[in-house]
Amino acid sequence: MQPISLLPLSVVDWQEAVRYIVLDKVTVMEWHEDWIVRSARWETRVPAVMMLREYQRPKVTVRMSKRNIFLRDEYTCQYCGVDVTDQSATLDHVLPVSKGGKTTWENSATACKPCNYKKAASTKMKPKNVPHKPHFWELVEKRKKKGYHIAHPSWAEYLGIYSK
Ligand SMILES: [Zn+2]
Repeated sequence: MQPISLLPLSVVDWQEAVRYIVLDKVTVMEWHEDWIVRSARWETRVPAVMMLREYQRPKVTVRMSKRNIFLRDEYTCQYCGVDVTDQSATLDHVLPVSKGGKTTWENSATACKPCNYKKAASTKMKPKNVPHKPHFWELVEKRKKKGYHIAHPSWAEYLGIYSK
């Protein structure tokens, strides 16, 4: 037995968890006691910990998302250096969208709201670190530094860590 990943990055959402059950690909080890989802045809409790029946190679591609960009930038505003959270951080387009900037790893940086507002459509402000596409393990390390969010107490046991 081995966790698929120690990363909340690859934690599956409940829809995917239910899909795994329907496809009979997992053994459920722990259930959420008080979380039931229903459709017209069925109802099920949502699993908290599942084990895949067959070993799957861990995914090493990194999904491009706002949170993963914040994580790459270690939740620091790339313009003034202030610490930010999921709530206070914004996604800044280094080359503004209005000037043809795309939402890519290389054109996205973490910015606090004041800096994002100040920067607006300007191209004079440059991020402290040149935005790059992170490697999976880079994000793993940064996630470890930041600490885990434990969504269910039983996870700690399987991850070999303790919730704060
Ligand atoms: Zn800032």
